[in-house]
Parts: sequence; structure tokens; C-alpha cells
Amino acid sequence: MPSPVAHSLVGAGAFLILTPETGLKPLSFILWEKRRDLLFFTVMANLPDLDMVVGLLLNGHADTFHSLFSHSLLGAILMALAASLIYSIGSRRKTFLAAFTLMALHDLMDFSASPNLIDPGPGVSLFFPLSERIASPFPIFFGIQHSTIQQLISLHNLRAIGVELLEFSTVVFLLYKLKEKFSFTESTQWKREKNGAK
Ligand SMILES: [Zn+2]
Repeated sequence: MPSPVAHSLVGAGAFLILTPETGLKPLSFILWEKRRDLLFFTVMANLPDLDMVVGLLLNGHADTFHSLFSHSLLGAILMALAASLIYSIGSRRKTFLAAFTLMALHDLMDFSASPNLIDPGPGVSLFFPLSERIASPFPIFFGIQHSTIQQLISLHNLRAIGVELLEFSTVVFLLYKLKEKFSFTESTQWKREKNGAK
């Protein structure tokens, strides 16, 4: 699995794309004004990994329930449904779709992660309860090792998080610039049309 850094940056990217004000107002203003929405996107992008906390609390092992129900499409639908009943980013439908997409993306990222980027990783139960874990034969994300404390604070994980930070923050930055460009074009066009109509 990629680390929470990568998943959180995916959430931040979705926030920038789906927040209508992005590109029309200063970024710092949007981040403050929409901080609850940003938190929602970040939490949704990481929610499937809550299964590790459940495992730790119930029997002291983070891996007991890891990558099973919570990393399935069924789990994503049910958790997104619950999330859309608790919070709203505009409408219930938009909230459900955003939450489901973020969790499905999380599952696909874990599906495509491997500790050495050569062999398939542990995979996820994407079609739970119909099938066992499945993993991509062509991993593209560094898998974080998390079975022991030593693994958690290893050089491997530090390197993997560094690569994630570089790659994902670049993508988020480019997404923001694209959104800013299109929002600016749209708002300028709208103003021109409005002035021309007078
Ligand atoms: Zn995960």
C-alpha cells in the first residue's frame, strides 16, 4: 500500500478539482474557507485504511482485517453512502460520488503497489466477498512496509514516502494550475459575454 501521504495528496487533488471556487479566489482563502471540505476529502482518501486501527484495537495486529472488506468496491459504496448521510460538499449525490471515487482510487492504488516495484504486492480484496485478494502484475506504486515498528520507520519507507511526495505533489500542483487556467478562462469569457450583452 502507498502511505497516507500519497492517499492524502490524491484527496487534495480531488478537492482542488471539485471545489468550484478554485482558480477564482486566492488558494489560501479557499483552503481556509473550505477547510472542512478539504478535511472530508483527505479523510475519504484514507478511510479504507481505518481497518488497521480496528485490527490494532481488537487484537493488537494491524493486518488482521487489512485490505479486506474496507478495500472492496462494496465497502467503498457502503462507506460512501454513510459519509454522504453525515456530511455534504454541496449535494448528497456529489458527496457520495466524491467519497466513492476517492475510496475506489485508494483501493486501486493499493492494488497496484509493491514493496520492490517488481513482484506483485499483497493486493486487496477488490471484489469482496466474491474473490480473494488480487494484485496488479505490473505494480506502479512503492508499497509501504508496516508489519513491524522496525519496518514502519525503515529507510525503505522513508524513501518510498519521499518519492510519493515528489510525484503526487507535482500532479496536485499541475491539476491546480489546470483548474486555475480553465476557471480563469471561463470567468473571463462569462464577464465578456455579460458586458457584450449590455
Ligand atoms: Zn489501503
